Parts: sequence; C-alpha cells; structure tokens
Amino acid sequence: MTLTVQPHRESVGLKAGQLFIDGQWGPARDGATWPHHHPATGEAIGEFAVASAADVDDAVAAARRAFDSGAWSYSRATVRIQLLHRYANLLREHADELRALQALDNGVPLSFGAIYATSVGAAADVFDHHAGWVDKIGGQTLPPYQGGDHLAMTFREPIGVVAAILPWNAPFLLFAQKIAPALAAGCTVVLKASEFATFSVLRMVELLGEAGLPAGVLNLVTGPGDPTGERLITHPDVDKVSFTGSRAVGKRIVEASAGTLKRVSLELGGKSPALVFQDAPNVGLAAMTTMGAVTMGLSGQACVANTRALVHRDVYEEFLGAAQGMAGMITYGDPFDPGVISSPLINARQLERVLGYIEKGKTEGRLVTGGERLGGDLANGNFVQPTIFADVDNSATIAQEEIFGPVLAVVPFDTEEEAVALANDTEYGLGAGVFTADVQRAFRVARRLRVGTIGINGFQVEPHLPFGGFKQSGLGREGGQSAFEAFTELKTVLMPLGEELM
Ligand code: NAD
Repeated sequence: MTLTVQPHRESVGLKAGQLFIDGQWGPARDGATWPHHHPATGEAIGEFAVASAADVDDAVAAARRAFDSGAWSYSRATVRIQLLHRYANLLREHADELRALQALDNGVPLSFGAIYATSVGAAADVFDHHAGWVDKIGGQTLPPYQGGDHLAMTFREPIGVVAAILPWNAPFLLFAQKIAPALAAGCTVVLKASEFATFSVLRMVELLGEAGLPAGVLNLVTGPGDPTGERLITHPDVDKVSFTGSRAVGKRIVEASAGTLKRVSLELGGKSPALVFQDAPNVGLAAMTTMGAVTMGLSGQACVANTRALVHRDVYEEFLGAAQGMAGMITYGDPFDPGVISSPLINARQLERVLGYIEKGKTEGRLVTGGERLGGDLANGNFVQPTIFADVDNSATIAQEEIFGPVLAVVPFDTEEEAVALANDTEYGLGAGVFTADVQRAFRVARRLRVGTIGINGFQVEPHLPFGGFKQSGLGREGGQSAFEAFTELKTVLMPLGEELM
C-alpha cells in the first residue's frame, strides 16, 4: 500500500499557518498561501500564509517600534533571563508535539528528532545557555592611553532589528541558535521560516507568546525566498541579517546587504572531509560514523556531514566494507514509525539534483552501493538509496560540490601530508573528522585543517560552543559567547573628568 501521512496530520491537528506581526496572528494582506507537500508521500497536507512585501514591511515596522521603545532592549536583565528560561522549559514540555510537527514538515522521523543534535532539548539548552549571557557581557573600562583624568569605556549594545532566516533541515536547533542570542542581547526580530519547515516554527513562535514575549519583539513571516525573503534582506530598516542556508542564497544576501551596509552572519554549506588514518582506533566505527552521518536522520541533508571520506590505502577496503554495512541498516518510510531512521529528500527539485549527481558519480568513481530512487510503497516520496562511490578523485564534481543527499565520496590517500592537502582542497571549510589513535597526529592535523569544527574520533553537538565555517562555508559563528556578541555593536564612550580641553 502506498505510504500516507494523512492520519498523522489529523492526530496532530494541523491548522493553517498565519503570520505573526506585532503580537497578532493573521493572514497575508493579499491572502496568498503556500501548499505544503509532504516529502515522504507527495501529499498536500497543509498550507500557510505567504508574506508579501507589504507584510514584511509591517513586520519590520513592528520590530523597529519595539526596538526603539527600549521596552525590550533596555528591560531589566531578569525580564529577559526569566523569559528565556521559561521558554526553554516550555519547549521541553512540548517536545513530542514539536517533533510530530517536524515530521509533518520535513519528514525527519520521530526517532531521529529525539537524537540530541537536532532535538527540541538541544534547542531548549541553547535558550538556557544564552539566558546566562544577558547580565555578563559588557564592555571594558580602560586606562586612558594619553594619561590625564579621562574615562575611556566600551559598551556592547543590541544591534537593532534582526532578520533571521532559517533553512528547513534542523528547524529547532537553528531557530534557537539565532533567536536565543538575539533576544538575550536585546534585539528585536523578524523571523522567516523555510517554506519546507514552517509548521514546527509556527508552534515555536506561539510558545514564545505563551512565555510572555512582548508584542513586536519577535515577528514571523512565512513564505518562499521570493517575495518574502527578498523583501526582508533588502529592507532598509533591517540592521542585521542572520542567515543559515545555501551558499548561493548567502552570496545573494551579501550582495543585498550592500545597500544599507547591513551586518551579516552566514552559516552555509560544506563538503566536510573525514580523514581516516591507518592507525584509527576502530576503522569500522569510523566508517559507520561517517556513513551514518551521511545517511541516518537527514539523508545527508546536514551541513556538517562528512560527505567526503579520505581513507588511507591500508584500511581502505575495511572502511568500504563497514560503510556499506551501515548503508544496509538505513530504513525509510513513515516518519512516525519508530523503526524508520532516515528521511526523504526535501522536495522534487532536490531529488532531481541528487539523482543528477549520482549519474555524474557513475562516471567519476566506482559505485559500491545504492544509486537508485526507491519505488514500491515509497514511489511517491523523494527517497534515494544510501550511496557510496569509491576511488573518487578529489577534484571530481561529487568530491567538490555539496550534494545534500545520502551520497558518500571515498578518496584514497597514502600520507598524512597528502590527506591534509586533499582535505583543504575545497571551497568550503565547515567541519572535518579525524580518525587516528596518535594524539600528536590528531592535533597536528586538526591545526592544519582550514575548517570551523573538528571532531577527533567522533563528534557531538554542544549548545555552548562556537560553530561556523572558514572560506565559503560562512561568515561569523553561532553558539556561545561569539554568537551573543554578533548581535551587539561595540560602542566607545570617552569623558574627561576635569576641565581639560580635548
Ligand atoms: P536555501 O538557501 O535554499 O534556503 C534557506 C532559507 O533562505 C529559506 O528560508 C529560503 O526561503 C530562504 N531564501 C531563499 N532565497 C532567498 C532570497 N533570495 N532572499 C532571502 N531568503 C531566501 O537552503 P535550504 O535548502 O533551506 O538549506 C540547505 C542549505 O543550508 C545547505 O546548503 C546546508 O549546508 C545549509 N545549512 C547550513 C547550516 C550551518 O549551520 N552551516 C545548517 C543547516 C543547513
């Protein structure tokens, strides 16, 4: 029987999505809506408002009024601290409901939605973490360089109105990585959800209202890149754009920011390598970890997945065997079935793109496993078999471009020097994995890799660490103190304490 998710839609009680502007829910001014098709079944399961340029203008105006009033940005620290903690707890209470909404949005199975990295719990921890910065980040008081009796001080002030733009693949964590530091710093926000993961974000915004966030401090506009996103990134009254998504849209945002010199933070894509040395403590585990990240949960639609495996020739066949074993363990289907551990590709366009890369891969490497779209009960969904290409040259398209699907390119190497050179031979620089039992090698290699985050013999998401990319993987960092600071401007204030002339 062909897969359907309609019964889950009924049990979750999915309602049509509206815009949230100045504390009020309502439709788009022109009544436009977007139909959401489920990626596992192709079924139309809900719709939400498409914000026009006029709606975006209303949202930015509300955020500007809320910012300029100072009611949020200059509120008592406890107002912001308590709200952020209250919200973190509300998220935890609603974790099951949010996971179910996400399964209806982007098809990420409930089983994977419970894994820490992409869970509601991780998002809640990010809010708790940033609540802690509210009363701790300030400026400095410095001794005057030219002597005399002067005060020389710096202050950190909220940056103003922030446009926060989300991708579809990890809405809980990525919502938190932007909204928690922005609110903690005293900014006001216009948030744009991805058109492929809107329902879970709508509920997260509703819960912010329940936590007591004042009207206008956070506004939600829904809809696609054009018109909704375009109006937001070109709006003259937006002070900062905080974006997570593709490199192409990231570049467009940099371009659009030039008009008013908006501050810009970008979390973009990657082609992150796993470097597996001959002395890896457990080659089988290294292979399963690498292939698992490329296939489990998000089907490789994860920015930091190690989609390029650089493997020493001495352990090459062992690696391929274990990676193939992992591919065989992946289960697809109804995201509400606890036995299902991975997702469909997000939409038909992405399905075509990934199948195109697989065809290209057949000319660039040796197909070890996979390579086909799934049929049968799953024929209406965007499912692609876990796929491995071996003997790939690092300059090949499938070793250089972000495929964003369950496709691993395996490249052999002979020396550490070569492995590092291959790893760095990419336009991206988001993450890397290093598998070795030699501690000195581990750190030597980690220091030489031009990437933002490195896992040595494993990797875990931490809510309080900086995360972001070198090179074309991004600008700036999310997570931790650096994220909080990225939502502030540094101001210098000077004052002579006597009658001296400057
Ligand atoms: P995308 O760039 O297509 O869309 C991201 C968001 O930008 C969506 O909300 C979309 O509607 C909006 N958008 C599209 N065009 C726009 C425009 N012209 N102006 C303003 N907004 C516009 O990306 P996606 O498919 O949603 O996400 C996948 C990408 O995100 C991958 O490249 C992945 O690597 C990256 N990603 C990066 C990180 C990270 O932390 N570095 C995390 C998750 C995903």
